[in-house]
Amino acid sequence: MKAIRRFTVRAVLPENLGALEELAGNLRWSWHEPTRQLFARISPELWQQVGHDPIALLGAVDPARLAELASDQGYVDWANHLRDDLHVYLSEPRWYQSLDGSAPRTIAYFSPEFGIAAALPQYSGGLGILAGDHLKAASDLGVPLVGVGLFYRSGYFSQAITPDGWQLESYPVLDPDGLPLSVLRNADGTPVQITLALPNGVLHARVWQAAVGRVRLLLLDTDIPENEERLRSVTDRLYGGGGEHRLLQELLLGIGGVRALKAWTDLSGTPEPEVFHTNEGHAGFQGLERISDLIGEGLTFDEALQVVRAGTVFTTHTPVPAGIDRFDGPLVQQYFSTDLLPGVAVADVLALGSENYPGGSPDMFNMAVMGLRLGQHANGVSKLHGDVSRHMFNGLYPGFDPAEVPIDSVTNGVHAPTWTDPMMRALAEERLGTDDTTTADWANSGAVHDHDLWSVRTRMREQLVGDARRRLKAAWESQNPGGIAPAWMDDLLDPSVLTIGFARRVPTYKRLTLMLHNPERLRSILLNPERPVQIVIAGKSHPADDEGKRLIQKLVQFASEPEIRTRMVFLPDYDIGMAQLLYPGTDIWLNNPLRPLEACGTSGMKAALNGALNLSILDGWWNEYYDGENGWAIPSADAAGDGAERDALEAEALYDLIENQIAPRFYERNGDGVPEAWVGQIRHTLATLSPELSAGRMVREYVNRLYVPACGFERRLTGDGFAAARSLAAWKQRVRAAWPGVSVAHVESGGVDAVPQVGDELHLRALVHLNGLSPDEVEVQVVYGRSHEGDELTDVRYAALEVDRNAPGSHDASVAFEYRGTVQLAWAGAFGYTVRVVPKNDLLISPAELGLVAVAA
Ligand SMILES: *Cc1c(COP(=O)(O)O)cnc(C)c1O
Repeated sequence: MKAIRRFTVRAVLPENLGALEELAGNLRWSWHEPTRQLFARISPELWQQVGHDPIALLGAVDPARLAELASDQGYVDWANHLRDDLHVYLSEPRWYQSLDGSAPRTIAYFSPEFGIAAALPQYSGGLGILAGDHLKAASDLGVPLVGVGLFYRSGYFSQAITPDGWQLESYPVLDPDGLPLSVLRNADGTPVQITLALPNGVLHARVWQAAVGRVRLLLLDTDIPENEERLRSVTDRLYGGGGEHRLLQELLLGIGGVRALKAWTDLSGTPEPEVFHTNEGHAGFQGLERISDLIGEGLTFDEALQVVRAGTVFTTHTPVPAGIDRFDGPLVQQYFSTDLLPGVAVADVLALGSENYPGGSPDMFNMAVMGLRLGQHANGVSKLHGDVSRHMFNGLYPGFDPAEVPIDSVTNGVHAPTWTDPMMRALAEERLGTDDTTTADWANSGAVHDHDLWSVRTRMREQLVGDARRRLKAAWESQNPGGIAPAWMDDLLDPSVLTIGFARRVPTYKRLTLMLHNPERLRSILLNPERPVQIVIAGKSHPADDEGKRLIQKLVQFASEPEIRTRMVFLPDYDIGMAQLLYPGTDIWLNNPLRPLEACGTSGMKAALNGALNLSILDGWWNEYYDGENGWAIPSADAAGDGAERDALEAEALYDLIENQIAPRFYERNGDGVPEAWVGQIRHTLATLSPELSAGRMVREYVNRLYVPACGFERRLTGDGFAAARSLAAWKQRVRAAWPGVSVAHVESGGVDAVPQVGDELHLRALVHLNGLSPDEVEVQVVYGRSHEGDELTDVRYAALEVDRNAPGSHDASVAFEYRGTVQLAWAGAFGYTVRVVPKNDLLISPAELGLVAVAA
């Protein structure tokens, strides 16, 4: 019998166990090991069964057990102690509180997904887990961040695999009452309601709030009776629909998100956000809602745009144009031809997202393009990805080199307390005196011996093998109700064998099946009698991606051959809970994307924090952190003729590395059975990579390099009744209007002999027409570097030329200004230069920002 309605009745706890309820209500439990142990003690089996979810545990535990604990003074004291510890954590000054007043009072962080704990499945993969880690690290550092997202009734999806390897999706409906969420309420107790005017109807949403340590997360939910039936399903699934459904979700996230924020700041007395950070382009409409508010305060669209840009940080995550969200212009037009955004003209909205540049489709509305136009501060997520992004968005800055495109990079990090196995933390605490594994002195081999490290690594591998067997047996039993799982399922994998882990979403570029390129070679590697290897694989394919599902099927079919099945397994339903055992349990973390399509990749970072060694293509984070000792680099066959040849070359290189370097080193043991050289590499990885890969490092970088500067710009533009915003908007308009008449009329040089030598000075004189602009509003630069065939410059440098203010005619718009300067010839070989004019204003962060440049012809 199926129920027509479900809801969760919360347990009534004995009075003196009230601390448990408070602890369960703050998601800090998801990374605070002592709190997890407190819950596990209630019932270790149940704790395991409910997937480490305190609220589910309290709902399922026998009241008699709670009564028993309530009369156990030791347990009650323990719970109260941890509650006090939580209170201290929530209120004590942390890193951010040591910053000066230039740091923003509140930062809003928007993301379409948040991966915080397995118990709150509101993520599909890397993007969401990064957002979750960002909130957690912000909490630990005391950063006054508030998260904004959507509450999806079915999250992403649950994955099962049929016996012949096909992915099946199911969408279990979540009950928010059974999750660590509470409704945001008005002072009178009624739920806060957010509304959006749509072309035919009104969209209503309620707001759930989650406490992630010190950080509040607001999630909008449309599944409420106030909505017409068709609108209740706007937040049904994450990345579930295309086109219009997705547009509705993004309107709600951006516009509704800002409205929810306003309600929350008012109700809680929190200062209004000064910086808005959008994690990927999906939340881009947030900027439009803020523009609409500023128009309400008397600014024009252009003036409001300056304010919004100044305080917005946009992080792009995809290195491929196909990964960017785009909508049909007419659809967007339809949604904004309403009362949705008072004061904002549809044409202005459309212009922000239009691909009106060479190579773009002007009728498409591109969320990343809008992200860059609404956000003055932009970044990619690894150094290499920053570079790829500057090339990808070069079209928005015509006339500038990719290196000048104003997109910086902050390399991702991962939240160490979430992603480091408790066994590693216990080792650090016991031997190195700290449970912060990212700062522990792992190099101290006198305190942590090789055999200590090896023994923890072995126990984590055993833990993974146990978990894999349990999961596969459970999967078999759910497919064969009433049957008894075959005996060989108890022998899957071997806790003493070199274990390679490989888990990821399954878009083509990640090349899930590269390892199958030469099945015979793989078979002989797995079954090597002296140096066997085993592989644990997991990953979800997007439900609409049949190609991805076929890749999963190929792997599952290969892995089901009787001689292979104990050496290679595919674990269904990859999620945070599985990942937390998978990364620590693997010796080698494999990553073989097509370079440079992995923007950063964070699973390898999580593996490294646990002492796994990476085996990866030099892409994303690995491209900047591989040092020859912390793992292995799979060479990229960039020169290969085609994709097939490239796959073949890279697969062979992968096999060679495993067979000739990795397996021999893993199995080379000393008298105590410890692989010394291997453990040396683990130690080196932990000592050098852990501090770098932590989300703490990442969030501090965001604060110092993006949030604080953005806040500075935002304050300058809003101060004094928006005076600077008004003048900046007027200035941009004037510069744009004058620009067609700005030109470099004449350049001459002198000072070097017929045979120039290193150290000589080149004297330059240029005549420049400014078409009515003043010399203070532009910079005239000599651009010089190594010159190559086709006259392209490399190693480019820029130096400003000085205007001669006394030269005749400098106050007459029709007469050219005279500029002078010198350049030292600092190297031998080909030298080239040119002269250009760019706009100058100390409220720009880059001369390329306006996309205006006049170069000497
Ligand atoms: C870390 C993580 C990811 C992202 O890993 P990538 O290396 O970026 O592909 C995806 N899913 C889960 C469950 C994770 O923990």
